[in-house]
Amino acid sequence: MGATIIDGKAFAETVRGKVADEVGRLKRGHGITPGLAVVLVGEDPASQVYVRNKGRQTAEAGMQSFEHKLPVDTPQADLLALIDRLNDDPAVHGILVQLPLPDHIDSDLVLNAISPAKDVDGFHILNVGLLGTGQKSMVPCTPLGCLMMLRDQLGDLSGLNAVVVGRSNIVGKPMAQLLLGDSCTVTIAHSRTRDLPEVCRGADILVAAVGRPAMIPGDWVKPGATVIDVGINRVPAPEKGEGKTRLVGDVDFDGAAQVAGAITPVPGGVGPMTIACLLANTVTACCRANGLPEPEGLTA
Ligand code: NDP
Repeated sequence: MGATIIDGKAFAETVRGKVADEVGRLKRGHGITPGLAVVLVGEDPASQVYVRNKGRQTAEAGMQSFEHKLPVDTPQADLLALIDRLNDDPAVHGILVQLPLPDHIDSDLVLNAISPAKDVDGFHILNVGLLGTGQKSMVPCTPLGCLMMLRDQLGDLSGLNAVVVGRSNIVGKPMAQLLLGDSCTVTIAHSRTRDLPEVCRGADILVAAVGRPAMIPGDWVKPGATVIDVGINRVPAPEKGEGKTRLVGDVDFDGAAQVAGAITPVPGGVGPMTIACLLANTVTACCRANGLPEPEGLTA
């Protein structure tokens, strides 16, 4: 195995440390405590775990955490009314509505009801447009975490060939925009891409965001490439006992690690960075709301 393993857990801890320092500075210097409101509709078990982790890490960073848990049959109008209240609440600097929402709720409508300045997930259409036109925006957390790791690993990304596999609005497209912003030559691949192996072999930076276990084998990876595996897939793990499962990424880790220059593992790579970047975005939103300079190294 030749590749450097990028330790997302350690990196996320560093980001959370920077966030906590910044929160301390805001409290001491300005009497401001950044606040993050998380809204969960329904009782999806995975979403409940995410929301719990977000609340815990928000509090650990010294910020205020506001949790709003609503029943699964909450009318859309009630959810929109809650968002209105949070938009107007000066103690709330970031608002996150946990996805997926129940079928009777129009997710796009809800996400676009969040004040763009408090849209710490970066999904509001205004932030999407700002990112796409290279203007200051709130950047979606997972791609922001990937960008931070890439900059840390490679320094200047300018001129590198980047291939992003996956074109979702929450990972693939914003990831591609960020890489373009750092002057990479960017290809976005998807399920209709012709000769995906050859496309991937041209990548100095290969970002996999598909959701198919180990679909990218080692021989699709250019020697020395940096591989960021966003995929989180649960697969059977009979070696751990009957009915047990484990998490794997979209990249065949063992195969790719023989060839790549650096690679993120799953778990322990991109995953931990997502919540760290949510906290970073909340601090950024708080600084912007108060006309204060933004913290260094926590934004795109
Ligand atoms: P989506 O399902 O929204 O998008 C998947 C993308 O993969 C689509 O663009 C699709 O193409 C493409 N795709 C599907 N099959 C193939 C194929 N055979 N070859 C090439 N491309 C293909 O997924 P998300 O972007 O939401 O998530 C992707 C993965 O990242 C998931 O495993 C998810 O769990 C994980 N994830 C991890 C996060 C983290 O914190 N680490 C956060 C968010 C997601 P097309 O558009 O043509 O259908």
